[in-house]
Amino acid sequence: MTNKNLVDRWNASIQNNYGTPGIALVKGKGVVVTDSDGNKYLDFLGGIATNILGHAHPAIIKAVSEQIATLSHVSNFYAHPNAINLAEKLIQMTGEKNAKVFFCQSGAEANEAALKLSRRTGKSKVVAAQGAFHGRTMGALSLTGQPAKREPFLPLIKGVKHVPYGDIGAMRKAVTKKTAMVIIEPIMGEAGVIVPPSDYLKQLREICNDKSALLVIDAVQTGMGRTGDWFGYEYSGITPDVITLAKGLGGGLPLGAMIAIGTAADLFQPGDHGSTFGGNPVTTAAALAVIKVIETKDILSKVEKQGRFLIQELALIPGVKEVRGTGLLLGIELETLDAKQIANSLSEIGILVNAANESTIRIAPALIVTDVQINKFISCFKKVIANAK
Ligand SMILES: *Cc1c(COP(=O)(O)O)cnc(C)c1O
Repeated sequence: MTNKNLVDRWNASIQNNYGTPGIALVKGKGVVVTDSDGNKYLDFLGGIATNILGHAHPAIIKAVSEQIATLSHVSNFYAHPNAINLAEKLIQMTGEKNAKVFFCQSGAEANEAALKLSRRTGKSKVVAAQGAFHGRTMGALSLTGQPAKREPFLPLIKGVKHVPYGDIGAMRKAVTKKTAMVIIEPIMGEAGVIVPPSDYLKQLREICNDKSALLVIDAVQTGMGRTGDWFGYEYSGITPDVITLAKGLGGGLPLGAMIAIGTAADLFQPGDHGSTFGGNPVTTAAALAVIKVIETKDILSKVEKQGRFLIQELALIPGVKEVRGTGLLLGIELETLDAKQIANSLSEIGILVNAANESTIRIAPALIVTDVQINKFISCFKKVIANAK
């Protein structure tokens, strides 16, 4: 099977909502993936910030293999130790004592759950950010602040207002006593790795306290150590009411979570929400393995250091306007070059990234990426930019 053969069959059998992929991947080890023609790539996109420990990590293989050979699925009629262990661990990672977790499979579902939870405050209005990405299901899409994704599917859920990201004055105007929740990404990933002012989350917390609105942190992309912290908001010193997670949580397996803190933890009552696969023993085994590796290998401090090095080196490259982000979630904004073309040229020399918009390359490699691989990425990036100018 060649790339061309697989891409042709994709086009014939898979709906056209994604467009046509360039290559077909068949194998991966760590940060290196292999396509169907046998070409190898340095994977600096990580399944869009999802393969947090890369491909075929021995700890995930072991945890998943042992669990699926023991008990695969139980539904939520029964308790299982993995889901409980993971919930306890996630609560511990928030630094709060009083919190509770709902498990699902994806980011959209985690945000759907947060949206439903907020209705249990008795209020229904929501404030979100323009440009934000919170998922594609009808509830999550109602939160997503990107007109091109929303408009074909109107009408969406009523009562959601989108304000400019990072503009605390706009938030202050939009959030009222009727606001059930405010949802915000600590860094807007899909929008092009946009970082808010350093006191934004802190001020947003105060506004939400003032109006008794839940503050929901969408950590689907920034979470699980990607920014050098567990969730990506910790630098601000705030405590959110809700944290949503997915992407990196399952280390490549489909797992999402909605963590509710304090009084928000008790808003759901029996029958209010559910998910057949939520908290499945196999996916939660993978997540426990992911967290254990990140903790025992001191990966968080490594990620922070590598992020600082990447920003420093990439910002020096002629043609690069600025480098945004923290840790291993970075957006490289180009002065004049087309980000899609640069992403294609990088793929041709064996580097996978993505163009988050026309001018920004996003990188989100596995957290196990080595300094050698980072240096290789930087030199390839330099070469591609120099050749394109
Ligand atoms: C990817 C993403 C989502 C949606 O996650 P899915 O698993 O694709 O549903 C939600 N929020 C953010 C911040 C994301 O990056």
